[in-house]
Amino acid sequence: MAKKFDNVTCIACGCLCDDLVLHVADDKIIEAERACSLSEPLFRGIPKKESGVPEIEGEEVSLEAAIERASEILGSSSAPLIWGLADSTIQAQRSAINLADRLGATLDPALSPFHRDALVALQSVGISTCTLGEVKQRADLIVFWGCDPVTTHPRFFERFIDPPGRFVRGNRKVIVVSGEQNATAEIANEFLQVQPGCDFDVLSALRALVQEVAIEGKSFGGISLDQLQKLAVQLQSANYCVICFGPEVTSHGSTIAMLESLFLLARSLNGNSRCSAIGLGGPIAENVLTWQTGYPCGVNFASGYPRYDAEGYSANRLLKNCEVDAVLMVGTVGLKYLSKSARYRLGELPVVLLESIQRVSSDETRLSPTVQIPISQSGMHTGGTVFRMDGVPLPLRPVIDSQLPSEESILAAIMEGVLAQCSC
Ligand code: SF4
Repeated sequence: MAKKFDNVTCIACGCLCDDLVLHVADDKIIEAERACSLSEPLFRGIPKKESGVPEIEGEEVSLEAAIERASEILGSSSAPLIWGLADSTIQAQRSAINLADRLGATLDPALSPFHRDALVALQSVGISTCTLGEVKQRADLIVFWGCDPVTTHPRFFERFIDPPGRFVRGNRKVIVVSGEQNATAEIANEFLQVQPGCDFDVLSALRALVQEVAIEGKSFGGISLDQLQKLAVQLQSANYCVICFGPEVTSHGSTIAMLESLFLLARSLNGNSRCSAIGLGGPIAENVLTWQTGYPCGVNFASGYPRYDAEGYSANRLLKNCEVDAVLMVGTVGLKYLSKSARYRLGELPVVLLESIQRVSSDETRLSPTVQIPISQSGMHTGGTVFRMDGVPLPLRPVIDSQLPSEESILAAIMEGVLAQCSC
């Protein structure tokens, strides 16, 4: 007989929809109510009871032997790197930070280059932001700039835009500013097409207009001055405007400067009314590191205290320049962000890989790690808490039993192994 699980959280995108209803029979998901086109195939693909055996250099071994070897590799390393954690729970991230602190390692969450640039821009000029609850209840104007939530976050409209807002008078207005007429532009009230790489020009002109600074020129990045003036008036006259941005915001120059411009635009609209900016991405991976060390990524513990350099201590640069001698990879999401030379170097180092069995089998992970420990999948087999893309923490609900250990328990066991080595 099928078991029903209410209010299950989906972690397939940053919306973290926590209203799914899963029906499980014989340890397999047979129906996923409210799942979208992105998550449905993922739920259907969850194998019955995950199983898998740890390996050392391709040979199957016991879990204890794998943990002992992993502890030896990391404990004897003089410059270890802990990297990944992109979809890890808060609990697992805390364990990873403890381990990095003990080892004097560098810890770098696997963030996309755009996400890393957004963090640097945020640090330099700040960001006026809000929760998705505020978007739903208060926003009367939503601008999607360089993003396409209809494709990347399929339930975003259903959950946060379509329902009537408690404090919204009349209908919400949706404007898309993008380099192409994407799926979101097709259902928006208005669409402004930017020439590729010209978002910075458009943002700069718009900021000037909002601040009532005279500008010269008839067109900026493919958008006419008349269109920009109309957009500036719409932004200024909204009661609560939200600018959602994504990685399709492009600039011929610095992405950081362009994102600073976007954040400053949102800030300048906070006079008589409110305006916020929200990045549309996946679950937030950097919050735990930020609250524990003060820094969001690229944190080095070698001196006994956290030192930060978003680029200098990035996994990509450290690997490329041969500045690490062992790697603990927690998940394989970050592989796609590595340069060719960094990835090549990764293949030469002792690597301890923790990954759920479902993902270990994908082509992307042909790494031949020294130690590979299969772990259960958070949100399916184990619980925990993750941060939604607006920074709101949400609990995960396990629905299928697994024989595999959790990520958090393996990280804690490696820590114990490292401590045991130190005390002998
Ligand atoms: S919108 Fe995102 S979080 Fe919601 S069900 Fe779809 S993939 Fe999952």
